[in-house]
Amino acid sequence: MTDRKSELADNLARVEERIDAACAAVGRQRSEVTLIVVTKTYPADDVRLLSELGVREVAENRDQDAAPKAAACTDLLLRWHFVGQLQTNKVRSVASYADVVQSVDRKRLVNALSTAAVRAGRELDCLLQVALDAESGDAEGRGGVAPDRVDELADAVAEAEGLRLCGLMTVAPLVGPYAGRPRAAFERLREMSSSLRVAHPTATMVSAGMSSDLEEAVAAGATHLRVGTAVLGVRPRLG
Ligand SMILES: *Cc1c(COP(=O)(O)O)cnc(C)c1O
Repeated sequence: MTDRKSELADNLARVEERIDAACAAVGRQRSEVTLIVVTKTYPADDVRLLSELGVREVAENRDQDAAPKAAACTDLLLRWHFVGQLQTNKVRSVASYADVVQSVDRKRLVNALSTAAVRAGRELDCLLQVALDAESGDAEGRGGVAPDRVDELADAVAEAEGLRLCGLMTVAPLVGPYAGRPRAAFERLREMSSSLRVAHPTATMVSAGMSSDLEEAVAAGATHLRVGTAVLGVRPRLG
C-alpha cells in the first residue's frame, strides 16, 4: 500500500470507530447510517484510493473541481453528492455527474435542475438544505431554505420532472439560536424530516454531521454523515 493509501485507510478506520461508538451509545444500527466522504480540494487520485478502500459515496461542493474529478473516475462505482451552493449556470454540468444534490434551496434552482435532469435523461435525488440560522425567508444568498419555506419547496421538488425528493440536509449553524449546539440543530432537522414525511413518505434521508460533530448527528438520528477532514486531512485551502 502507498503511504497515502494507508493514511486514508487509518483515517477511515478511525472515523468508522467513531460512527460505531456513536451508534452504540444511542442503540442505533451501524447500517442505519451512511458515510459520505467529502473529497473537495483533494485530487481524483485520492477518490480512486478511497474507492479501493471501499468508499462508495463521495461529495463535492464546487462544480469547477467536481466535474473533472468525476470525469476521471467514471470507471469507479461511486455515488456523487453535490453539497455546495449551486448557481443555476452550473446546474447543467452538475446534473451530468451528480447522483444526489443536497443543496437545493430555492425554487429557481428546482426549475433549473429539473430542466437539466430531463435533458440529460437522468433522475436526480434531491435534498433540501435547511438554514437553521435563517429568520423566516431571509436565507437568500447564504445557502439553505428557511424552515418555514421547506414545505412549499418540497412540493416543488416532488412535482418536478427528473427530480426525486429524498430528504433534508443541514450544516450546524455558526450563528443564531443553534450556534454551538449541533445536537439541538440536528434534532430540529430530524423533527422537520418527520413532518415532511407525512406528505412525502419517501423523503427519508437526513444529512447532518461533519468531522467535528458526527456523534451529535448520529445521536439526533441522521441517516447520512458528510465527513471530509477526518478522512482526508486538513484541507490545503478553504473549500
Ligand atoms: C466541507 C463540507 C463538509 C465536510 O466538512 P469536514 O469538516 O471537512 O468534515 C460537509 N458538508 C458540507 C456541506 C461541506 O461543504
